[in-house]
Amino acid sequence: MPLFFSMCVALATILSAPAKPAPPSVVRPAPTIKAVPMTKKLIAFTFDDGPNRRYTPRVVELLKQNHAHATFFVIGQEVVRYPDVIQMLRNAGMEVGNHGLHHKYLRNIPAAAVKEDVTGGADAIVAAGGAKPYLYRLPAALSDDTSRQVLGQLKYTIISWSVDTRDWRRGQTPERIAKIVMRDAAPGRIVIMHDGPAHREATMHAISQVLPALEAQGYRIVSVGELLRSSDFAAQRDIPPKPAPVAKPPAAKSRPHSRGWLQSIWPRRIS
Ligand SMILES: [Zn+2]
Repeated sequence: MPLFFSMCVALATILSAPAKPAPPSVVRPAPTIKAVPMTKKLIAFTFDDGPNRRYTPRVVELLKQNHAHATFFVIGQEVVRYPDVIQMLRNAGMEVGNHGLHHKYLRNIPAAAVKEDVTGGADAIVAAGGAKPYLYRLPAALSDDTSRQVLGQLKYTIISWSVDTRDWRRGQTPERIAKIVMRDAAPGRIVIMHDGPAHREATMHAISQVLPALEAQGYRIVSVGELLRSSDFAAQRDIPPKPAPVAKPPAAKSRPHSRGWLQSIWPRRIS
Protein backbone atom coordinates (compact mmCIF):
# COMPACT_ATOMS: atom_id res chain seq x y z
CA MET A 1 0.00 0.00 0.00
CA PRO A 2 2.70 2.52 0.78
CA LEU A 3 4.22 1.81 -2.64
CA PHE A 4 0.84 2.18 -4.34
CA PHE A 5 0.22 5.38 -2.39
CA SER A 6 3.62 6.77 -3.44
CA MET A 7 2.92 6.00 -7.08
CA CYS A 8 -0.43 7.75 -6.89
CA VAL A 9 1.17 10.83 -5.37
CA ALA A 10 3.88 10.83 -8.04
CA LEU A 11 1.29 10.50 -10.83
CA ALA A 12 -0.84 13.25 -9.34
CA THR A 13 2.23 15.47 -9.12
CA ILE A 14 3.07 14.88 -12.80
CA LEU A 15 -0.51 15.50 -13.93
CA SER A 16 -0.91 18.65 -11.87
CA ALA A 17 2.50 20.10 -12.81
CA PRO A 18 2.14 23.24 -14.90
CA ALA A 19 3.11 22.81 -18.54
CA LYS A 20 6.67 23.84 -19.24
CA PRO A 21 6.50 27.28 -20.81
CA ALA A 22 7.52 27.37 -24.46
CA PRO A 23 10.84 29.09 -25.03
CA PRO A 24 10.40 32.62 -26.34
CA SER A 25 10.67 32.72 -30.11
CA VAL A 26 14.06 34.08 -31.05
CA VAL A 27 13.86 36.76 -33.71
CA ARG A 28 17.08 37.90 -35.21
CA PRO A 29 17.28 41.65 -35.79
CA ALA A 30 17.53 42.58 -39.44
CA PRO A 31 21.14 42.61 -40.64
CA THR A 32 22.62 45.82 -42.03
CA ILE A 33 24.67 45.69 -45.22
CA LYS A 34 27.00 48.55 -46.17
CA ALA A 35 29.05 46.66 -48.73
CA VAL A 36 29.58 43.07 -49.86
CA PRO A 37 33.12 41.68 -49.74
CA MET A 38 34.05 40.56 -53.25
CA THR A 39 36.74 40.84 -55.87
CA LYS A 40 34.36 41.04 -58.83
CA LYS A 41 34.08 44.59 -60.14
CA LEU A 42 30.43 45.04 -59.25
CA ILE A 43 29.10 48.21 -57.64
CA ALA A 44 25.49 48.84 -56.60
CA PHE A 45 23.72 52.15 -57.18
CA THR A 46 20.75 53.12 -55.03
CA PHE A 47 18.29 56.01 -55.37
CA ASP A 48 16.12 57.16 -52.46
CA ASP A 49 12.95 59.21 -51.93
CA GLY A 50 11.20 58.56 -55.26
CA PRO A 51 9.35 57.67 -57.27
CA ASN A 52 9.41 61.05 -58.92
CA ARG A 53 7.62 61.74 -62.17
CA ARG A 54 10.37 64.05 -63.40
CA TYR A 55 13.60 62.45 -62.25
CA THR A 56 13.03 58.69 -61.94
CA PRO A 57 12.49 58.16 -65.70
CA ARG A 58 15.64 60.21 -66.41
CA VAL A 59 17.68 58.05 -64.04
CA VAL A 60 16.33 54.90 -65.68
CA GLU A 61 17.15 56.21 -69.15
CA LEU A 62 20.73 57.02 -68.11
CA LEU A 63 21.11 53.59 -66.50
CA LYS A 64 19.84 51.86 -69.65
CA GLN A 65 22.18 53.88 -71.87
CA ASN A 66 25.09 52.69 -69.74
CA HIS A 67 24.06 49.01 -69.36
CA ALA A 68 23.45 49.60 -65.66
CA HIS A 69 20.85 48.66 -63.06
CA ALA A 70 20.01 50.08 -59.66
CA THR A 71 17.78 49.74 -56.61
CA PHE A 72 15.18 52.43 -55.98
CA PHE A 73 14.18 52.81 -52.33
CA VAL A 74 10.76 54.33 -52.76
CA ILE A 75 8.44 56.08 -50.30
CA GLY A 76 5.01 54.43 -50.19
CA GLN A 77 3.11 57.70 -50.16
CA GLU A 78 4.82 58.72 -53.41
CA VAL A 79 4.18 55.25 -54.87
CA VAL A 80 0.46 55.81 -54.34
CA ARG A 81 0.76 59.03 -56.36
CA TYR A 82 2.84 57.50 -59.17
CA PRO A 83 2.10 53.78 -59.42
CA ASP A 84 2.97 53.80 -63.12
CA VAL A 85 6.59 54.68 -62.25
CA ILE A 86 6.83 51.42 -60.27
CA GLN A 87 5.67 49.55 -63.37
CA MET A 88 8.25 51.38 -65.47
CA LEU A 89 11.00 50.46 -63.00
CA ARG A 90 10.04 46.80 -62.96
CA ASN A 91 9.79 46.56 -66.73
CA ALA A 92 13.21 48.22 -67.06
CA GLY A 93 14.67 45.47 -64.84
CA MET A 94 15.26 47.82 -61.90
CA GLU A 95 14.85 46.76 -58.29
CA VAL A 96 12.40 48.43 -55.90
CA GLY A 97 13.16 48.52 -52.17
CA ASN A 98 11.12 49.84 -49.25
CA HIS A 99 11.82 53.27 -47.72
CA GLY A 100 8.68 53.34 -45.55
CA LEU A 101 5.17 54.58 -46.17
CA HIS A 102 5.75 58.08 -44.76
CA HIS A 103 9.56 58.20 -44.54
CA LYS A 104 9.15 57.77 -40.78
CA TYR A 105 12.27 57.79 -38.62
CA LEU A 106 12.45 54.36 -36.96
CA ARG A 107 13.99 55.39 -33.65
CA ASN A 108 12.20 55.78 -30.32
CA ILE A 109 8.81 54.83 -31.68
CA PRO A 110 6.70 51.80 -30.67
CA ALA A 111 7.07 48.49 -32.51
CA ALA A 112 3.52 48.81 -33.82
CA ALA A 113 4.33 52.17 -35.42
CA VAL A 114 7.47 50.72 -37.02
CA LYS A 115 5.49 47.81 -38.41
CA GLU A 116 2.76 50.10 -39.72
CA ASP A 117 5.15 52.30 -41.71
CA VAL A 118 7.22 49.39 -43.05
CA THR A 119 4.30 47.18 -44.09
CA GLY A 120 2.45 50.23 -45.44
CA GLY A 121 5.40 50.96 -47.72
CA ALA A 122 5.53 47.35 -48.92
CA ASP A 123 1.76 47.24 -49.50
CA ALA A 124 1.96 50.38 -51.67
CA ILE A 125 4.69 48.81 -53.82
CA VAL A 126 2.76 45.55 -54.26
CA ALA A 127 -0.49 47.42 -55.01
CA ALA A 128 1.34 49.33 -57.76
CA GLY A 129 2.42 46.04 -59.35
CA GLY A 130 5.90 45.80 -57.86
CA ALA A 131 7.42 42.68 -56.32
CA LYS A 132 7.17 42.30 -52.54
CA PRO A 133 10.27 44.12 -51.22
CA TYR A 134 12.85 42.40 -49.04
CA LEU A 135 15.32 45.28 -48.80
CA TYR A 136 14.73 48.26 -46.52
CA ARG A 137 16.54 51.57 -46.30
CA LEU A 138 16.23 53.46 -43.03
CA PRO A 139 15.04 57.07 -43.43
CA ALA A 140 17.86 59.31 -42.16
CA ALA A 141 19.76 56.08 -41.26
CA LEU A 142 17.95 56.04 -37.89
CA SER A 143 17.09 52.82 -36.08
CA ASP A 144 17.12 51.22 -32.63
CA ASP A 145 16.83 47.71 -31.19
CA THR A 146 13.04 47.76 -31.52
CA SER A 147 12.96 48.74 -35.19
CA ARG A 148 15.73 46.31 -36.12
CA GLN A 149 13.79 43.52 -34.37
CA VAL A 150 10.59 44.41 -36.23
CA LEU A 151 12.46 44.55 -39.55
CA GLY A 152 13.97 41.16 -38.70
CA GLN A 153 10.52 39.73 -37.98
CA LEU A 154 9.40 41.01 -41.36
CA LYS A 155 12.45 39.30 -42.99
CA TYR A 156 14.04 42.50 -44.24
CA THR A 157 17.70 43.20 -44.84
CA ILE A 158 18.66 46.80 -44.06
CA ILE A 159 20.70 48.34 -46.84
CA SER A 160 23.06 51.09 -45.80
CA TRP A 161 25.83 52.51 -48.03
CA SER A 162 29.59 52.77 -48.38
CA VAL A 163 29.75 55.59 -50.95
CA ASP A 164 27.95 58.67 -49.65
CA THR A 165 27.51 61.28 -52.38
CA ARG A 166 25.64 63.68 -50.06
CA ASP A 167 23.71 64.78 -53.13
CA TRP A 168 20.86 65.97 -50.89
CA ARG A 169 22.99 68.85 -49.63
CA ARG A 170 22.09 72.30 -50.82
CA GLY A 171 24.69 73.51 -53.29
CA GLN A 172 26.22 70.07 -53.89
CA THR A 173 27.63 70.18 -57.44
CA PRO A 174 27.66 67.44 -60.09
CA GLU A 175 31.45 67.63 -60.11
CA ARG A 176 31.66 67.04 -56.36
CA ILE A 177 29.19 64.14 -56.49
CA ALA A 178 31.08 62.53 -59.38
CA LYS A 179 34.40 63.03 -57.60
CA ILE A 180 33.13 61.23 -54.47
CA VAL A 181 31.83 58.28 -56.50
CA MET A 182 35.05 57.87 -58.50
CA ARG A 183 37.21 58.31 -55.38
CA ASP A 184 35.30 55.78 -53.23
CA ALA A 185 34.29 53.23 -55.90
CA ALA A 186 35.44 49.70 -55.06
CA PRO A 187 34.16 46.15 -55.70
CA GLY A 188 31.03 45.33 -53.67
CA ARG A 189 30.31 48.89 -52.53
CA ILE A 190 26.89 50.53 -52.40
CA VAL A 191 26.39 54.12 -53.61
CA ILE A 192 23.56 56.30 -52.28
CA MET A 193 21.91 59.05 -54.35
CA HIS A 194 18.41 60.52 -54.58
CA ASP A 195 15.85 60.72 -57.38
CA GLY A 196 13.34 62.69 -55.29
CA PRO A 197 11.69 64.77 -54.12
CA ALA A 198 13.05 67.86 -55.93
CA HIS A 199 16.14 69.69 -57.19
CA ARG A 200 17.93 66.60 -58.42
CA GLU A 201 19.63 68.22 -61.44
CA ALA A 202 23.09 67.86 -59.88
CA THR A 203 22.49 64.13 -59.37
CA MET A 204 21.31 63.72 -62.97
CA HIS A 205 24.45 65.40 -64.35
CA ALA A 206 26.69 63.45 -62.00
CA ILE A 207 25.37 60.03 -62.98
CA SER A 208 25.66 60.90 -66.68
CA GLN A 209 29.39 61.31 -65.97
CA VAL A 210 30.11 58.48 -63.53
CA LEU A 211 28.21 55.65 -65.23
CA PRO A 212 30.38 55.61 -68.40
CA ALA A 213 33.50 56.35 -66.35
CA LEU A 214 32.92 53.34 -64.08
CA GLU A 215 32.10 51.13 -67.06
CA ALA A 216 35.37 52.21 -68.68
CA GLN A 217 37.17 51.06 -65.52
CA GLY A 218 35.63 47.61 -65.91
CA TYR A 219 32.83 47.99 -63.36
CA ARG A 220 29.35 46.62 -63.83
CA ILE A 221 26.72 48.76 -62.12
CA VAL A 222 24.05 46.57 -60.55
CA SER A 223 21.12 46.55 -58.15
CA VAL A 224 21.69 45.67 -54.50
CA GLY A 225 19.86 42.37 -55.08
CA GLU A 226 22.29 41.42 -57.81
CA LEU A 227 25.22 42.39 -55.60
CA LEU A 228 23.87 40.11 -52.84
CA ARG A 229 23.08 37.28 -55.26
CA SER A 230 26.70 37.46 -56.45
CA SER A 231 27.98 36.75 -52.95
CA ASP A 232 27.70 34.18 -50.16
CA PHE A 233 25.16 36.45 -48.47
CA ALA A 234 22.36 35.29 -50.78
CA ALA A 235 22.59 31.68 -49.56
CA GLN A 236 22.64 32.79 -45.93
CA ARG A 237 19.58 35.03 -46.12
CA ASP A 238 17.41 33.39 -48.77
CA ILE A 239 17.54 36.32 -51.18
CA PRO A 240 14.78 35.83 -53.78
CA PRO A 241 15.56 35.70 -57.50
CA LYS A 242 15.13 38.75 -59.68
CA PRO A 243 11.41 39.33 -60.35
CA ALA A 244 10.21 39.02 -63.93
CA PRO A 245 8.80 42.06 -65.73
CA VAL A 246 5.03 42.26 -65.84
CA ALA A 247 3.16 42.84 -69.05
CA LYS A 248 0.09 44.65 -67.79
CA PRO A 249 -0.02 47.51 -65.30
CA PRO A 250 -2.69 47.22 -62.61
CA ALA A 251 -5.71 49.49 -62.69
CA ALA A 252 -4.36 52.02 -60.21
CA LYS A 253 -5.15 55.69 -60.42
CA SER A 254 -2.54 58.43 -60.34
CA ARG A 255 -3.21 61.38 -58.08
CA PRO A 256 -2.18 65.00 -58.63
CA HIS A 257 1.34 65.82 -57.57
CA SER A 258 1.79 67.16 -54.09
CA ARG A 259 5.04 67.12 -52.20
CA GLY A 260 4.17 69.30 -49.26
CA TRP A 261 4.56 66.56 -46.67
CA LEU A 262 8.07 65.73 -47.82
CA GLN A 263 9.07 69.33 -48.37
CA SER A 264 8.27 69.92 -44.74
CA ILE A 265 11.15 67.68 -43.69
CA TRP A 266 13.51 68.91 -46.39
CA PRO A 267 16.48 69.39 -46.12
CA ARG A 268 16.64 68.21 -42.54
CA ARG A 269 16.68 64.52 -43.36
CA ILE A 270 19.85 63.00 -44.74
CA SER A 271 18.65 60.07 -46.81
ZN1 LIG B 1 15.03 59.15 -47.57
